[in-house]
Amino acid sequence: MTTPATPRGTRLAHIGIAVESLQGILPFYQELLGLPEVPLDDADGARIVGLAAGEPLVELLEPAVADSPIGKFLAKRGPGIHHLCFHVDDLDGTLARCRAAGIRLIDETPRLGAEGKRIAFLHPSATAGVLIELMEY
Ligand code: ZN
Repeated sequence: MTTPATPRGTRLAHIGIAVESLQGILPFYQELLGLPEVPLDDADGARIVGLAAGEPLVELLEPAVADSPIGKFLAKRGPGIHHLCFHVDDLDGTLARCRAAGIRLIDETPRLGAEGKRIAFLHPSATAGVLIELMEY
């Protein structure tokens, strides 16, 4: 477990948006809004493009395979905001607090996300309908 020397506090890290086609929507974000691309790895069966919107990113998520979380989300609800991700100082501690408070966890233990950091998802049933991702700094 790592605790940063100076806690930074919980901050918005990125907004994940499910899209049918990266190619179709990228010109809007890159050329019309002027958001620069940040290289990210693909993850969870999705092709991901990160765009810097100040400190937080907009992450466009296109399903690489239909049977992926993003593919299923698109089939059920169509394109739109898929999740919010918050940076937290202490991911293990935050997960433990959520678990103790009865928040349903999707990831019982952290795993590696698209930015190469440890992440864990909380179930939207416990968070006012919003899928929440927690990411270690
Ligand atoms: Zn995310």
